[in-house]
Amino acid sequence: MAENCVFCAIVEGRIPSHMVYEDEKTLAFLDIHPSALGHTLVIPKAHVARVEDLPEEDARSLFAALRKIVGRIQEAVGAPASTIGINNGRESGQEVPHVHIHVIPRNRGDSGGIIQGVSRSPQRLNDVEMARIANEIRERIKAV
Ligand code: AMP
Ligand code: ZN
Repeated sequence: MAENCVFCAIVEGRIPSHMVYEDEKTLAFLDIHPSALGHTLVIPKAHVARVEDLPEEDARSLFAALRKIVGRIQEAVGAPASTIGINNGRESGQEVPHVHIHVIPRNRGDSGGIIQGVSRSPQRLNDVEMARIANEIRERIKAV
């Protein structure tokens, strides 16, 4: 647990939240500044800043919890869909350095965008460039 982390404080009950789900490793509660009705954050109870540092077991539990509750969230607010996303690192817009999955219920005509719209630097690469990037990534994955 991190002393000055707002989500750790919620896990420990030091500050209140509108909790919607809890299990041994995971908690879900309403976002205090909802982008849509039912906007929910799903978090590991352990204090980990970024997805890549999440222990595998916590990651499993986190995604299992997400899978369990996402449909229920949508039903509760009468939304047919949701956008699910993680701001991973400060440059992506992450303000709370404790991993959290945003579940944002979506409705037709809500004027929201798509995940691919978060970066406005579209890349037009040819096949050789695509292959080079894929190789750079593969080589690094092989090394871990
Ligand atoms: P971000 O780190 O940018 O992915 O987003 C952090 C999210 O946490 C924002 O959407 C905030 O509205 C939300 N948030 C911050 N403090 C609280 C809190 N005490 N209870 C619920 N949600 C919070
Ligand atoms: Zn924390």
